[in-house]
Amino acid sequence: MDNFTVLSHQENFMSSRYARHELIPGWSQQQLADARVIIFGLGALGNEVARILAMSGVGSLLLCDPDRVEESNLSRTVLFRQSHIGRLKVEAAAGTLVELNPGLSVETRSLPLIHGVGLGEIRDAHLVLSCLDSRSARLQLTGRCQLVKIPYIDGGTHPWGGEVRPYLDPDGPCYGCSLSPEDRSITDVPWSCLDTRAEVSVGAAVPSSALVGTWMGTIAVRFLMKMACPSGTLRIDSSRGTTVVIPHVRDSECPLHTSIDFVTKIGVSYQDTMEKLRSFLPKSAVPLVWEPVQKLVECSHCNFYETRWGLPSVDSCPQCQKPLRPRTTIELDEAPGYVKLAELGIPPREILTVRTVKGWQWFELE
Ligand SMILES: [Zn+2]
Ligand SMILES: [Zn+2]
Repeated sequence: MDNFTVLSHQENFMSSRYARHELIPGWSQQQLADARVIIFGLGALGNEVARILAMSGVGSLLLCDPDRVEESNLSRTVLFRQSHIGRLKVEAAAGTLVELNPGLSVETRSLPLIHGVGLGEIRDAHLVLSCLDSRSARLQLTGRCQLVKIPYIDGGTHPWGGEVRPYLDPDGPCYGCSLSPEDRSITDVPWSCLDTRAEVSVGAAVPSSALVGTWMGTIAVRFLMKMACPSGTLRIDSSRGTTVVIPHVRDSECPLHTSIDFVTKIGVSYQDTMEKLRSFLPKSAVPLVWEPVQKLVECSHCNFYETRWGLPSVDSCPQCQKPLRPRTTIELDEAPGYVKLAELGIPPREILTVRTVKGWQWFELE
């Protein structure tokens, strides 16, 4: 075989990457290429789902996860290597995904979900995949998907199986509908208790993540190509060798069905300051954030306190070295003009709720 033959063979291979897909009745490579999907959580499940979407030819992925690769991840995560230990999960995953499919466009956000991806970005995606590992994070993402009425698929694993919950009709049931009012109320606790990293580790192994991730990937790919999808919760049980679909129903009492109706786009980005934001809002309007931000820190042992706008921090008192308590707010009317929106945890293309004399209004960052 001479050089010319080898080259043309490779070119032919590249152009026929999806040849076997095209033989599947109803498969539309173009619909996948045009799709933009957001994956929240790049643990074992997120790894499997991202791999399947990338290899299937989904055109654009946005990955969001604040954590770094640890050695204990490597027994379950198909995209991470020994050399990735200590690197951000989203960056390590993005590198491997582009190796798997050089045609993929992938963006990364190494922040918790509410600070990583704006509501405008969620609304403009074709599908959101929730590969999160706590109920509080799932509820938070559910609320955001409901606000902009976007289809999403949630997945979770247990040691020998798991669940896949497709919420593909924004007017149908949501994750919150399946929980009791007590279970939902976890969203009402203060910020620090919502920190998902504080949760205890549970047993997990690659067969279950692969199984559940494959179901999520399968439903995602079918949904993007407008094929029929299951509408209930898939309960996957390895000990029985079964996957059972359990219908889920919309609960009219579920508080997560609020949606944003009319949005005004403004020429302010998340990297701009409060001063610039104010110049675009109606007079005496009060912009709000979706998650409390710190406005001051105070010491409960001595008289020290200090105005300190930003994400809640865990510093010690400069006078007595006892831990400082952050005082938080969701109202930004007192935030200094020089503070950047990003410093308040506001993500790109966020939609901000604003209280005005005419009532609630929504403003979308560029
Ligand atoms: Zn609901
Ligand atoms: Zn003190």
